[in-house]
Amino acid sequence: MNRMRGAIRTYAWGSRTAIADFTGRPTPAPHPEAELWLGAHPGDPATVTTADGEESLPELLRADPDGQLGAAVCDRFGELLPFLVKVLAADEPLSLQAHPSSAQAVEGFEREDRMGIPLSSSERNYRDSSHKPEILVALGPFEALAGFRPVEQTIALMRALAVADLDPYINLLAGQPEADGLRALFTTWITAPQPGLDVLVPAVLEGAISYVQSGRTEFAAEARTLLELGERYPGDAGVLAALLLNRMHLDPGQAIALPAGNLHSYLRGVGIEVMANSDNVLRGGLTPKHVDVPELMRVLDFHPVAEADLRPDVDHDGCMRIYRTPTPEFAVSVFDIEGEWLGHEIDAPCPYEGPQILVCTRGTVEVRGKAGTLDLDRGDAAWVPADDGPLRLRAAEPAQLFRATVGLGGED
Ligand SMILES: [Zn+2]
Repeated sequence: MNRMRGAIRTYAWGSRTAIADFTGRPTPAPHPEAELWLGAHPGDPATVTTADGEESLPELLRADPDGQLGAAVCDRFGELLPFLVKVLAADEPLSLQAHPSSAQAVEGFEREDRMGIPLSSSERNYRDSSHKPEILVALGPFEALAGFRPVEQTIALMRALAVADLDPYINLLAGQPEADGLRALFTTWITAPQPGLDVLVPAVLEGAISYVQSGRTEFAAEARTLLELGERYPGDAGVLAALLLNRMHLDPGQAIALPAGNLHSYLRGVGIEVMANSDNVLRGGLTPKHVDVPELMRVLDFHPVAEADLRPDVDHDGCMRIYRTPTPEFAVSVFDIEGEWLGHEIDAPCPYEGPQILVCTRGTVEVRGKAGTLDLDRGDAAWVPADDGPLRLRAAEPAQLFRATVGLGGED
């Protein structure tokens, strides 16, 4: 078992306090810190503390794949860590985005290679050939837009804003079956010429202001989000996407699981994100970063989804919560050690024999593996090689530990 130090990504939408505070550094940080990467993705690998000093995790894996990852994981995923853990801290909305399926990622990566777009280029969409299903577990209140809302609710929202300019689009949506109508409408907006957007977006924002001022509550969160996005990205077609997507609020511990092709934008909050080991993002707006609308359109899934269906089921086993995700690459569990569990040694069996990444999010947890023991304080992370499990946990005071492992999904 090794202490693990993540790589911090500074993006404009990040927080100057959340990640710095979490990892015990002075606040405010000199730059907005958006993500702490805990994994072996070549874009920003973590380092681990070994007897020989600090070592990069990918090097450790290369030197001893069977011991670090386990033979079963090497067979399934080819000597690579199949998942990536991030602490994400958003003070401002992230870009409107979706992630590709496996087939789309393989095809897109090869295509951009053939076109000679360097991996480091900001024009590059596909930075690896993996899909990127993801789950985000909120550490505090968390706000997001995700998945096309069921169409009748979207029509009700657009009617409630009482914007005459929206009438043709309401008719377009009402006149076609669900996914077809959403595809037609989203395509119309995301490809609309700027002069048209410069009329429509302000009209929608006027409607949102009137709605908020009316004191009505049904769509108040949606209207406020429109205003927030409109203020930050005036005239951006991405603002209109907020009319079409589920506006979701997560309480701490609640989660959102996003399959391939799901259009989403995280708005605000701190959470732990676990995903397949990929950095493949197709963006459609609400960002100064590279936007590739045709490529986004290729991967989007226009089938409406109720927000409840984006919240993964949670199984409880003792003080462990397991988020049920269908993904082979990862599984997430959280240990809430409090009450009757305090002071006792707790078994933490691994759902799939392989490596584990631990992040302590509250208190102090003593983690005991075959090869040794580590005390993890809030903000500490650890790498647990496959040959060091299974683990036993203990805490004297209330504590919480996040754990990412390889998933069971896709196994027969
Ligand atoms: Zn995403």
